Amino acid sequence: MIYGQRVRRLRLMHGMTQAELAHRVLTTQDRVSRIEKDEARCDAELEQMLAVELGVTSDCLRRAPAAPLQALSPQFRARSRVSQRDRSVALEWANLVNEEYQRLTETAAALPTRLSREDGEGPADAARRVRHLLGFNQREPLPYLVLAVERLGVRVLGLPITLSTMDGFSAWHGDTPIIGLMTGVPADRVRFTVAHELGHLVLHRPGQAGREIEAEADAFAAELLTPRDSIVTALPSNPTLNSLTMVKTRWGVSVKALVRRARELGVIDADRSLSLYKQLSKRGWNRQEPGFVPEEKPRGFRKLAEIAYGAGPNTERLAQDAGWSEELALTVLRQYARSDELPRKVARSGSAETRADNVVRFPAHRRATSRASTEQPAP
Ligand SMILES: [Zn+2]
Repeated sequence: MIYGQRVRRLRLMHGMTQAELAHRVLTTQDRVSRIEKDEARCDAELEQMLAVELGVTSDCLRRAPAAPLQALSPQFRARSRVSQRDRSVALEWANLVNEEYQRLTETAAALPTRLSREDGEGPADAARRVRHLLGFNQREPLPYLVLAVERLGVRVLGLPITLSTMDGFSAWHGDTPIIGLMTGVPADRVRFTVAHELGHLVLHRPGQAGREIEAEADAFAAELLTPRDSIVTALPSNPTLNSLTMVKTRWGVSVKALVRRARELGVIDADRSLSLYKQLSKRGWNRQEPGFVPEEKPRGFRKLAEIAYGAGPNTERLAQDAGWSEELALTVLRQYARSDELPRKVARSGSAETRADNVVRFPAHRRATSRASTEQPAP
C-alpha cells in the first residue's frame, strides 16, 4: 500500500495541483484527492505512473513519510509575501532531502550541534560569539561561511529550486537546526541569507513574528559578516559605488548591504546613502551587481553520500536506497560541493591550514573500516 501523505508532499514539492498530477497519470482529480487521503487504493499501473511523475520509485511511495520540518523563518507564515505554493515547494524539497540526510547520518554521525542560544543576548553580541564559534576572529572578512556553519552542526540543505520570493529559510528537525538554500542565488546573497537565517536560529523560536524579528536577524547578519570595528576602518570615508565594489570583493558582502552598513554606523549620512541607492538602481545593480564573490555550496549531504556509496558517489545505489529516480539523486547531489570545489583557507589564525570538508564525524567504531575505502575527513 502506498502512503497518501507521501504522494501529497511530493506533488506539492513539484508545485503541482491535484488536477495537474491527475492529468499526467491519466486519472481524475477526485481519485488523486482520495489517494492522498488514503481513501482510495491504487492499482500497480497507477502506482508506477505516480512514482514516475513524482521522480521517485514505488518503494518510496510505500514508505511512511518522516515527520515534517518545523519552519522557523517568518517567510513561512500565512501573511508573508511568499505564496502558499512557493512555501510548500521549498518546505517539501527540504523535507525530502532532509529525510535522506537523516538516513545517511546512520552510517556516519553528523557533527554535534554547537549552536547555542543565550537568554537576553542582543543580535550584535550573539554575532560576535557565533563568529568565534565558527573559528574566525573579529577582524577579518569571513573566508567562507557555509562550510563553517555546517561544522557548527547546522544542516545546510541545498535545494534544486529557484524561487523569486525566497533565497533561503531556517527550520528545526527535532534539535537539529536546518538552513535551506535555493539554487541560482548570487554568492553575496547566499552569504547574507545564511548569516540572516543563522541569526533566526540563534535568536528566535518558531512562532515569533514581526518586523522586529527581521531587523534582529539583519543586525546579526551585518555584525557577523562585517564586524563594526573592522568595517568602519575598511569603508572609504566618502564611498562611491566603485570603491564599495572593491570592499565587496574583499568582504563578500553586496554593495547594497555595504551602503546600508555604512549608513547604520554613521560613516555616511542620509543624503549620501540615498544618492548611492539611486545610483544603484539606475545602474540596475539592485538585481545584478558587479564584483566577484566566490560561490559557496554546502558539503554535508554529498560527503555523507560519499561515505556510504564511495567517492563518486555511486548514484545508482544512492537512488535505489533513497527510493529516488537517478535523475533526482543527481539533481540533489549537484547542489553540494565536490571535494575539489571546497575552499582551502586558514580557518583560525595561528593554526595549521584547515581543510573545510570536515563536516561530518565518523563514529569511533567505523573509523578503522571506513578509512580504507573512503576519503577520511581531516582530524
Ligand atoms: Zn528572516
